[in-house]
Amino acid sequence: MSRRNRQAPAPDAAVLRRRLERVREAAGTTGLVVSPGSDLTYLLGRVGGSHERLTALVLPVEGPPTLIVPELESPGFADLPLAELGVVVRTWVDGEDPYAAVAHLLGAAERVAVSDATPALHLLPLRDALPDAEQVLAGPIVRELRMRKDAAEIEALRAAGAAIDRVHARMGEWLRTGRTEDEVGADIAAAIVEEGHARADFVIVGSGPNGASPHHSLSARVIEEGDVVVIDIGGPTPDGYCSDSTRTYSMGEPRDPDVIATYAVLQEAQAAAVSGVRPGVTAESVDAAARDIIAATGLGDRFIHRTGHGIGLDVHEEPYIVTGNTLLLEAGMVFSVEPGIYVPGRWGARIEDIVVVTDDGVDPLNHRPHDLLRL
Ligand code: ZN
Ligand code: ZN
Ligand code: ZN
Repeated sequence: MSRRNRQAPAPDAAVLRRRLERVREAAGTTGLVVSPGSDLTYLLGRVGGSHERLTALVLPVEGPPTLIVPELESPGFADLPLAELGVVVRTWVDGEDPYAAVAHLLGAAERVAVSDATPALHLLPLRDALPDAEQVLAGPIVRELRMRKDAAEIEALRAAGAAIDRVHARMGEWLRTGRTEDEVGADIAAAIVEEGHARADFVIVGSGPNGASPHHSLSARVIEEGDVVVIDIGGPTPDGYCSDSTRTYSMGEPRDPDVIATYAVLQEAQAAAVSGVRPGVTAESVDAAARDIIAATGLGDRFIHRTGHGIGLDVHEEPYIVTGNTLLLEAGMVFSVEPGIYVPGRWGARIEDIVVVTDDGVDPLNHRPHDLLRL
């Protein structure tokens, strides 16, 4: 897992120190164990670490945060401002038991929260090393911080949005009849990097009937005149923040007679959901704004997923814009608004923008036209 080279410097130490303080406040009397993944990146900046040797930030209820790290990998942490953050580094060598070291640091904690991304090969030995502690997921604690973005995070997401908009703006260079989804997808993946991402995380080219499968990726299908094509693309920029944007294209005039009217419903639904975003409304109300419009035309059963997901260091994170989520939106929350309509065996369409909740409304981070884009 050595992706450090392409990455920008970590946020400054003052920002990280505040995050560490706040996560400890949020944890209260629960000890925290955070292994490599987006939670650790959020708390310490860029963090690598190998799979089978334990690396973990341990936040005991009392005492300093301690980074447990294999001796041979400790040079990889030299550029982190650990001393400034008051983080103690405790190295271990092969043959030692790092889980016993974690247990020792956590002492008598009655509850220990372990980061969601911790692999089972570390989680189960940790359980054995802490037999008396209740062990829970750290996700619900850390997400309270992560879903409320600060100004620098919002600017990073804005830059990611602009970068993926530039890729969509160039779609006519690659998306042409007679080419396969695989060929188009390879060109898009290269452009995602050219336009400023560290890598392409996902490239969906859902042409014709493949567009009816929301998480289709690529195939050898040849794109034909009259196809509707769903293009859903994104990836992290060098500072780790992700883009995710969908536009739907038509190769000339759409073949299926229902496309134009149905797409107009989708466009209205997406716009209604975006304009319903403001502080104090529930996440589920944004979902309902899109869903009610689609359902009113009898197409409710063709919108087969939630309206959106939070985005940040992960492509999918809290808050989820879904029925049943009564979370009240707050300024600084960032998520996708991406209703879709899927007609099995024939075609599908989706429109996806990332939006920021502002003090009095909404600020979209994607600005490409929402129409069915003819190529
Ligand atoms: Zn998705
Ligand atoms: Zn998305
Ligand atoms: Zn997407």
